[in-house]
Amino acid sequence: MQQEAEISSKFIPKVHKMFKRLILPFAALVMGSGSLMAASGVERDSATQKTRYMLVIHGGAGTILKSQMTPEKEAAYKAGLTKALEAGYTILKSGGSSLDAVEAAVKVMEDNPLFNAGKGAVFTNEGRNEMDAAIMNGKTLQAGAVAGVTVVKNPITAARAVMDKSQHVLMFGPGAEKFAKQAGCEIVDPSYFYTEDRWKSLLKVRAADSTKMQLDHDSTIQHKPATKLGVENKDHKFGTVGAVAIDKQGNLAAATSTGGMTNKKFGRVGDSPIIGAGTYANNATCAISCTGWGEYFIRLVVAKTVSDLMEYKNMSVADAAAEMIMKQVPKLGGDGGLIAIDKDGNIAMPFNTAGMYRGSVTADGKIEVSIYKEN
Ligand code: ASP
Repeated sequence: MQQEAEISSKFIPKVHKMFKRLILPFAALVMGSGSLMAASGVERDSATQKTRYMLVIHGGAGTILKSQMTPEKEAAYKAGLTKALEAGYTILKSGGSSLDAVEAAVKVMEDNPLFNAGKGAVFTNEGRNEMDAAIMNGKTLQAGAVAGVTVVKNPITAARAVMDKSQHVLMFGPGAEKFAKQAGCEIVDPSYFYTEDRWKSLLKVRAADSTKMQLDHDSTIQHKPATKLGVENKDHKFGTVGAVAIDKQGNLAAATSTGGMTNKKFGRVGDSPIIGAGTYANNATCAISCTGWGEYFIRLVVAKTVSDLMEYKNMSVADAAAEMIMKQVPKLGGDGGLIAIDKDGNIAMPFNTAGMYRGSVTADGKIEVSIYKEN
């Protein structure tokens, strides 16, 4: 997708319009083959017009450098992504819904301490784990989300319960937890979410951030410059998880789950549970799950804007996603990435960070997982 965007900006002005049609698809095919940056994966069965199914996931974008990764760790991340893809694929293959598939894939990553969601959620400044999650049905535009939950083992199941079993879209804190319990979601002691790695990250970030904390405790300071919001996360590997899918019926769905950002303030809610910011699905356009510095994704309403660019500006999913991730988010000072599938099964996975844990599985069962820019 990025390559496609680059190719179009470099060459298109130089060639006759007539070639645009020939060059772009060819370039995308050559540069995107075997790559996760661009793909047009879903063919339509001409007889039934039924879309072939596909699932795309992410495990967060951020400063993920090969130089800082051990082969063991890299293998563990790839295995975690593969397991999540397999869980969703099994559902899609047997004719299950994209909603069930994205929920299942996210749940697998929530149970994996490597990812910043569920079990591996990062710590707030107060040393708690406050999680956010959202899910959306592209067919009905129904959505459910929870924010700031501390005892729900799989926040994505609570988000699903809000969508399926309440008349609301977003529930937060103790109320969301009470509702999740009533809805039959598994409840755990907050200590379940303790992991040594995340605790160490908090201590590190707190130490680096001590000057900023002093400023924050000064009640005369009402507005901090936007860039200060994320000082603590400059070198952070975000690690949020998300999934988007299209099922055999051609229905789209999106899901996102996160522990948020290390050292976040009490009560801070990120973009993930905000429908239209970090999560969005609409059968008319696409399904999207974002990861990155949430404040920017909220302010730019990133996921819905990608959908709007497609719907109202007739942009492709690749171009619309690139517009937000490669231009608008960095322009404002934010970083991150997203995964998207459009109604025809074209996918996009742009990110403006060093890496993004990501993967896809197509109807033929072919699984691809990648971490860095190159692969
Ligand atoms: N977007 C998430 C948040 O701001 C963080 C992430 O993607 O890792 O809460």
